[in-house]
Amino acid sequence: MSEVRLPDISIEAARRRTFAIISHPDAGKTTLTEKLLLFGGAIQMAGSVKGRKAARHATSDWMALEKERGISVTSSVMQFPYEGRIVNLLDTPGHADFGEDTYRVLTAVDSALMVIDVAKGVEERTIKLMEVCRLRDTPIMTFVNKLDREGKDPIELLDEIESVLGIQCAPVTWPIGMGQRLKGVVHLVTGEVHLYEPGRNFTRQDSTIFPSLDAPGVEERIGADMLAELRDQLELVQGASHPFNREAYLEGMQSPVFFGSGVNNFGVQPLLDFFVEHAPSPQARATTTRLVEAAEPRLTGFVFKIQANMDPMHRDRVAFMRVCSGKFEAGMKAYHPRTGKELKLANALTFMASDREIAESAFPGDVIGIHNHGTISIGDTFTEGEKISFTGIPNFAPELFRRARLRDPLKLKQLQKGLAQLSEEGATQFFRPLMSNDLILGAVGVLQFDVVAYRLKDEYGVEASFEQVAVATARWIKCDDAKKLEEFREKNAMNLALDAAGHLVYLAPTRVNLQLAQERAPAVEFLATREHA
Ligand code: GDP
Repeated sequence: MSEVRLPDISIEAARRRTFAIISHPDAGKTTLTEKLLLFGGAIQMAGSVKGRKAARHATSDWMALEKERGISVTSSVMQFPYEGRIVNLLDTPGHADFGEDTYRVLTAVDSALMVIDVAKGVEERTIKLMEVCRLRDTPIMTFVNKLDREGKDPIELLDEIESVLGIQCAPVTWPIGMGQRLKGVVHLVTGEVHLYEPGRNFTRQDSTIFPSLDAPGVEERIGADMLAELRDQLELVQGASHPFNREAYLEGMQSPVFFGSGVNNFGVQPLLDFFVEHAPSPQARATTTRLVEAAEPRLTGFVFKIQANMDPMHRDRVAFMRVCSGKFEAGMKAYHPRTGKELKLANALTFMASDREIAESAFPGDVIGIHNHGTISIGDTFTEGEKISFTGIPNFAPELFRRARLRDPLKLKQLQKGLAQLSEEGATQFFRPLMSNDLILGAVGVLQFDVVAYRLKDEYGVEASFEQVAVATARWIKCDDAKKLEEFREKNAMNLALDAAGHLVYLAPTRVNLQLAQERAPAVEFLATREHA
């Protein structure tokens, strides 16, 4: 027997903080990520995240496409230690086209950080992402960014967040001035005053922090007028806003709000300090049969993302598994309930922010990357033998459809294989109509077709184009009555197809057609999402 002492899984789980940043493009997510990593000691200098992005692009040809388009198709996981905690930051793809991918990343986190541009306020994509978070009552902290520029009045901004996003705001820091007049922030919980000093603020030691507004020196630094103005404003704020209530935060009802400037590294440390203290550690997760507690001794986890290997020399893929309970150890075998097989988790990756590393161990809240050649799909559960399946990682009905057209008809096999494999990664879905030999691709965003065409050529040597097809929307078909289902199948064969996993799907040429089909078959359910299972 091994002499390794069993670590206390509950202690390791309790110190994990697994989260994602949600924001509208350009609000400052990348910049803030960089600064957070800086505080985690993971990188030496600001700018490295962008640098890493560029280096990653260079490793694979098809990612040149991302670069051309100025978007990030892939997302990654960054882990860093901070104040005795282990922080896992799951990056969400930034482009609006990749909503589904983002959605699934959000199923793998325990909380989220919302970044808002002080001048732009609540933007369209923030609203969408917030809706997604609300589905699981994900706790959310808010960072109002770009305080070094003129923006909306902070009180009005909080009002906007409350009314547009329907969440209570509890300001934890409050800005002293803005734009040219930005002097700092005051911490409403500790009372501390953090001065804004461009070019500094890289560490707590590097910042000027007064214990309170009344401390000697404060008036001198921010000016008597501004101090008086601030005191008036704080009175107003304290009357009008909510004090921080941890329970309300954990229930997703209230968002603690911070103000700062990512690019100036200002206001970030108070945010991070508060975050590691109050953000939830890994929570219990639902499966088809029972709740799985993080501190349970046996390993469980689910796959929320699949990515083609970034090294073009290796055509395998990496499945990103969020550990939900137990402990992962290098080389261990895991049970894969969907196939009923055991899988050796050899050479799994962890994602230390400095670089990818081979995982020795991982605990609840951590993410590991498992190499495979297509055996693993999004939504798959892994256990140490128990036949359970985590729920809540859906496929969405795509909204755009194209028929794949081959340049060289002899390459049909490769095309099928390519489309099926790429659809396993989750960004596109692949349908085969019952009554024709068409190969139909569905996507949530139009950019996906370009990505798929590019990758088919690059990775599978298949030149394909995508042409218009008369499909407006898709619905997964469910019917518990076998006879009625068969009847439905016969009557509607022209509009039915199988998805990559073999599930029956209704491809409606128009919305009206869908409505009629639904009216004619009341016993049949038409589902806009399908749970991976
Ligand atoms: P993302 O698209 O949300 O990842 O946003 P980025 O982090 O790439 O930032 C978008 C732009 O805003 C970049 O030009 C940043 O330099 C800039 N930016 C980020 N934070 C701040 C800030 O605090 N103040 C100002 N003035 N600009 C910022």
